[in-house]
Amino acid sequence: MKTLFILIIFLICGTTLAKSPKYVFFFIGDGMGVSHSEIAEYFVKKTQTKDNSSFAINHFPVVSIVKTYATNVDITDSGAAGTALATGHRTNYKHLSVTPNGERVKTIVEEAIKKGWSTGIITSTKITDATPAAYMGHHANRKKENNLAEQITESGVNFIAGGGLGHFIPRSMNGSLREDEKNLLELMSIKGYTLFTGMRGWEDFKTLSFLEKQNIFALFSYKKLPFVINQNESGPSLETIVDKAITCLSKHKKPFFIMVEGAKIDTAAHKNDLPTTIHETIAFNKAIQRAVEFYQEHKNETLIIVTTDHETGGLGLGHIKDEKNFNISPILKAKTTMVDSEHNEHMEYKGNKKEWFEKIDKYLGLLPFSKTEMKIIKNAMSYDDVYRTKSPLLKTWFQFTGALNASSRELGADAPYPRTSIAINRILSARANVYWTTYGHTASPVPLYAIGVGARLFSGVMANYEVGRKLAKIMGLDLSQL
Ligand SMILES: [Zn+2]
Repeated sequence: MKTLFILIIFLICGTTLAKSPKYVFFFIGDGMGVSHSEIAEYFVKKTQTKDNSSFAINHFPVVSIVKTYATNVDITDSGAAGTALATGHRTNYKHLSVTPNGERVKTIVEEAIKKGWSTGIITSTKITDATPAAYMGHHANRKKENNLAEQITESGVNFIAGGGLGHFIPRSMNGSLREDEKNLLELMSIKGYTLFTGMRGWEDFKTLSFLEKQNIFALFSYKKLPFVINQNESGPSLETIVDKAITCLSKHKKPFFIMVEGAKIDTAAHKNDLPTTIHETIAFNKAIQRAVEFYQEHKNETLIIVTTDHETGGLGLGHIKDEKNFNISPILKAKTTMVDSEHNEHMEYKGNKKEWFEKIDKYLGLLPFSKTEMKIIKNAMSYDDVYRTKSPLLKTWFQFTGALNASSRELGADAPYPRTSIAINRILSARANVYWTTYGHTASPVPLYAIGVGARLFSGVMANYEVGRKLAKIMGLDLSQL
């Protein structure tokens, strides 16, 4: 009788107390709504004959819907949304791991480190950008990246990889983004991190087999990493970085938490650049696949969550009224991104029409243009021509005569990018039969996919800060106020 009683108690406890995972992967596809992954997977299926053309996330057993709004606005940013996911607190637009009143709140990574977890933070943008920095720093203004860089050096995270080296080197050094002479890179070396910097560092990094308990600080570019569409086969690829993080953190012989951000899905979607968005989404899903392979070997100890902080671009899968299919031909032909002032500025229209059309033909294969398309391009060119003059008087005159307003209305008044490049991106998307509603973020609820230990906890419709809270709970962390 006594044995039976103990057995019943054991069964009740077993069903109410969820087991904690030993290994947690948290993937954030910045800007990746369901449309982004759907069109990217469609592209892969149309261009590959292999059986594995379906994204792993579409086979995860738990799929849920996450609402993303911030405390003070409906349409969030990566600051407020990153805070929600990293700390379990809803906050204001552009705040980073502080409450709307500016008080610091604990992050999952800070608390995990205290509880003896090894940690990794990986991104394809600057490591000081909102999503990665939300786990390692606190500020009421996410744009204070030099301050966040200093906080990152104090974070104690074992594996840090991405871009943004410029925020860690003194002002007098080439590529610096700092306003002082602090050398944070040197500081990381003193703290015992093994450093990898720039593309030369990448070549060493990708062939490295890690030592026991090695800490890694690897920033492969001064600003963001280049878009996948403009990288050669060498990388730096998110998939390889995840692979290295797994090898490195496994050698710490502790439970680990790894956050991986596919940051440039958002960057490309802001510019309504369909091919670049697709290639970034594919690269992100390849990185997830690497975690899934790890999960296959450690099924009873691993949790993988894939979500996003918000949707970007309002990507709609349907554009032309009577067209019932997508057309992947313009996506296939695209060999470059159109807007990238950091790595690929040469695609920007700078006044030489002949040269520019030749480039469009060579790198995007979009010629010939229809009459309607040419009208849009010419409008955009005159807009860019005026802005290039940098003459306030001329700008005022064009605004007064309505010339600028006419073209800006047609192309979206709020696009902070070269109008001709944006015109090309919209023409390409129209030919592929997709449409973008904005150059910004949207409040569309986003998907969450989960597999592994504790995945069921994430089912249903929830707010983004609940995701952070559920994750902390399943990892056995207390995220109440500092
Ligand atoms: Zn964004």
